[in-house]
Amino acid sequence: MKILKINHLGIAVNSINEGKKFWTDVLGLEFEGAETVEEQKVTTAFFPVGESEIELLESTSPDGPVAKFIEKKGAGFQHVAFQVEDIAAALDELKEKGVKLIDQTPRIGAGGAKIAFLHPKATGGILVELCERG
Ligand code: ZN
Repeated sequence: MKILKINHLGIAVNSINEGKKFWTDVLGLEFEGAETVEEQKVTTAFFPVGESEIELLESTSPDGPVAKFIEKKGAGFQHVAFQVEDIAAALDELKEKGVKLIDQTPRIGAGGAKIAFLHPKATGGILVELCERG
């Protein structure tokens, strides 16, 4: 597969409103607005950093994946997202290599990007996201 760049780093927060202060007021990053992905029970907010972005994730429900993550590990760094040229081909390649995946096929994430998560058991404990932007 061809990884083009680190697209974004995902950070789990209890509140985007509270959490974004550090990134905007202290670091001076631009807040591009929040978007809720109902299917994932998450609201995301992106802050561009050069070629990459910071993504803050706030759960919309106590049983959402981000709420569960915070419950287990606390708020903080949650995932790294690599932008790939062709996400379907990348997933096929990973399946061939026997890599455990959370998403067998791409789904639509924030901003309409095609995304898929690899299982942390296959990556040494880190949640890895692949994304393809049109
Ligand atoms: Zn992400």
